[in-house]
Amino acid sequence: MVENLTVKPSLSRSEMIEAFGAELDFDKELGSFTTFKTGGSARYFLKVNSAKAVSETIQTSHRYQIPLFLVGGGSNLLVSDSGFDGLILKIDVKGLELVSGNLIFCGAGENLMALVDFSADNSLTGLEFASGIFGSVGGAIFGNAGAYGGEIADIIKEITLVDMDGNIKKVDANYCEFGYRDSLLKKSNEVVIDVLFELSAGEKTEIRSRIDEILAIREKKHPIEGNSAGSFFKNIPDPKEKYGKLPAGRLLEQAGCKGLKVGGAQVYEKHANIIVNRGNATSSDIRKLADIMKERVSEKFGILLEEEVIQIGQF
Ligand SMILES: Cc1cc2nc3c(=O)[nH]c(=O)nc-3n(C[C@H](O)[C@H](O)[C@H](O)COP(=O)(O)OP(=O)(O)OC[C@H]3O[C@@H](n4cnc5c(N)ncnc54)[C@H](O)[C@@H]3O)c2cc1C
Repeated sequence: MVENLTVKPSLSRSEMIEAFGAELDFDKELGSFTTFKTGGSARYFLKVNSAKAVSETIQTSHRYQIPLFLVGGGSNLLVSDSGFDGLILKIDVKGLELVSGNLIFCGAGENLMALVDFSADNSLTGLEFASGIFGSVGGAIFGNAGAYGGEIADIIKEITLVDMDGNIKKVDANYCEFGYRDSLLKKSNEVVIDVLFELSAGEKTEIRSRIDEILAIREKKHPIEGNSAGSFFKNIPDPKEKYGKLPAGRLLEQAGCKGLKVGGAQVYEKHANIIVNRGNATSSDIRKLADIMKERVSEKFGILLEEEVIQIGQF
């Protein structure tokens, strides 16, 4: 959600606080809001916890022509080392409750894994696929997060959104035009506020054992300490493959990418589609490494990989 507007230089610090409220932060370092832990600062930063606050902030930022970008859990983001010259909205809408038999209401700022646990505690099945996916519920909706043959789009009954004019509306899953790691929100820039999930009644022990099984598989393949953004590139649609996707990781591995390094960024040794920050990586290291990986796959297979990770700022 970046709008190509230039920050109006004429607004003073006190005018900005008057416009956006006393909680507005200035020159906020963004690394700690991402799992990569890299990148520069945001000129302005604001945590928002309700549809009303999001709506007002959007309208105010339009009035003052301030570019906006939303951040959830920061687990799919690469922030430029030069930061972001605009306003970062950190979506912090909370709430997780069982509405009736198989319906769960969840704020967009809730952690996805907390939702998975909550559904298991209530003997509801349908979210096990999301076990071990980092980030917030809002971020998962935006990119239609998925794994092991499931995706978040499958279990959505209703979503509350705020559009770019600040209107608050309720929509169903069809409205969001979900696709593979894709949704209408990538174009419309609408903000997810909360979601009503429709699950099915299940057996608690079976749900738990499926969750444990998936977490155990992930532990073998993923850097669970969270110094990556998961898969850097999207898999390639292919009906012949399991789950209908040719794993980008397989191509990257065959192209000899495992272990490649640029500065503090390295291709994870157990999974060639994951870049990890070895502790001192910059975002520029990560971007350069991703370019090398892309080039290798293009040269060997003639396939142009597409980024799953979303970039903020200038690269
Ligand atoms: C170890 C690891 C494993 C992973 N495994 C998987 C996996 O198996 N499958 C998978 O799909 N992903 C995976 N990921 C990637 C990531 O966890 C998901 O993409 C996640 O859904 C991103 O959510 P987030 O809240 O962190 O989003 P962010 O990284 O904060 O943001 C991503 C995008 O979502 C937008 N966004 C955030 N919140 C909202 C909102 N409320 N409304 C509208 N837009 C919003 C942002 O503007 C941004 O464009 C993995 C990541 C890690 C670190």
